[in-house]
Amino acid sequence: SSWFATWPTSGGSWPARKGRGGAEYPRSVISLAEARAHVFERCPGPVVSEVPLSDARGLVTAAPVVATGAVPPFANSAMDGFAVRSADTVGAPLGLRIVGTLAAGAVPDVEVCPGEAIRIMTGAPMPDGADSVVMVEKTAVSDDGAVVTVAVEVGEGNHVRSAGEDLLPGEEVFASGTALGPGHLGVLASIGCGSVTAFRRLRVGVLSTGDELVEGPAALRVGQIRDSNRPALLALLDEMGVVPVDLGLVVDDEDAITAALLDGVARCDAVLTSGGVSMGDFDYVKVVLDRIGEMRWMQVAIRPAKPLAFGLVEGVPVFGLPGNPVSSMVSFELFARPALRAMSGHTDLERQRVQARVVGGLKRHADGKVHFGRVVVEYRDGRYLAASAGGQGSHQLTAMATATGLAVLPDGDGVADGDLVEVILLG
Ligand code: AMP
Ligand code: MG
Repeated sequence: SSWFATWPTSGGSWPARKGRGGAEYPRSVISLAEARAHVFERCPGPVVSEVPLSDARGLVTAAPVVATGAVPPFANSAMDGFAVRSADTVGAPLGLRIVGTLAAGAVPDVEVCPGEAIRIMTGAPMPDGADSVVMVEKTAVSDDGAVVTVAVEVGEGNHVRSAGEDLLPGEEVFASGTALGPGHLGVLASIGCGSVTAFRRLRVGVLSTGDELVEGPAALRVGQIRDSNRPALLALLDEMGVVPVDLGLVVDDEDAITAALLDGVARCDAVLTSGGVSMGDFDYVKVVLDRIGEMRWMQVAIRPAKPLAFGLVEGVPVFGLPGNPVSSMVSFELFARPALRAMSGHTDLERQRVQARVVGGLKRHADGKVHFGRVVVEYRDGRYLAASAGGQGSHQLTAMATATGLAVLPDGDGVADGDLVEVILLG
């Protein structure tokens, strides 16, 4: 996709800074397109595995699925009614002798001969001799139950579902690369697949960093805040169908962060950290990533979510997301989500984007960056409308929670009321 590559990305430059680990960090601000390309190029490809059907929802097939048998497996009735010989109904209304009853699951043991009918239920196999079904609404049975009066003439094959009408043996059911939804799982079950060859479901760890962070309802002492990034990021992962792994909370200490990261990459396919990647004195995540991995520390010309550290530790991608709550979620959307989708075998990596008419204006200031405004999107009278979701600070998580879209605000002073803006739909 090229949409992000065309955004204006000119930017100022930030002062060079010596990291605590001794590394010289880059001074220039790079475009979102460059940052994304850097990340995507380094993420490993998807891994093929055999997955039980019960765990396959959302996974992507890694091989074509071929039907081994026909679906439906036998000709059966599409209605509750009477199985008849269609030729016998010519001149209806007329009476036919009832010679049996077939429920779904029954094995037919009586043939329908001329002048006869068999009571048949939806899904029951067509009996020999019959080529058509008259629905029960078009029939009346005599008081003694011996004769059915058929009110209408029916042609051959009326309300009959023939064998293989949905799938024929040997037919390709789904191509390789199919994302499996509920309907796909139903089809796989219908052809007797107990498992499917698909790209493995990822396990992705989430680690919060910061001396100020606490977890749970306990009273906060001065300087403390509650860790909100971890639950939000774990939920974003869960929502996109990867297995979230809670790697906990770690203080701003090199050894502690090193241990937590090494633990994370040992048991996960990717790790997300938040905090510790900006310009502060205690931002150790980028220092540790630099020391134990192949890390690039980026200043991206976007707002929120300017800083990003991305590296490979033991070959496992680590996304050093920024600490501000809105920034961590936006960074997840722009970098982690598409990269993890690619690692899961998806080829469509991006959220849906629409043009929306701005309601009430979306203000910003010119700073050389692309801004992502948190907006509520509505579809009304055939078009999308987008209005600010509330406070746009990168610490104001409530607007992010309310938002159903991210408005792409090019450099400048914003988009006026009534003008069009591109919006990334969230979910
Ligand atoms: P940092 O990048 O570590 O300097 O963090 C930037 C801002 O985000 C600071 O105000 C942190 O307190 C805040 N922050 C960092 N991590 C979290 C978190 N897990 N939950 C909530 N806020 C956080
Ligand atoms: Mg911090």
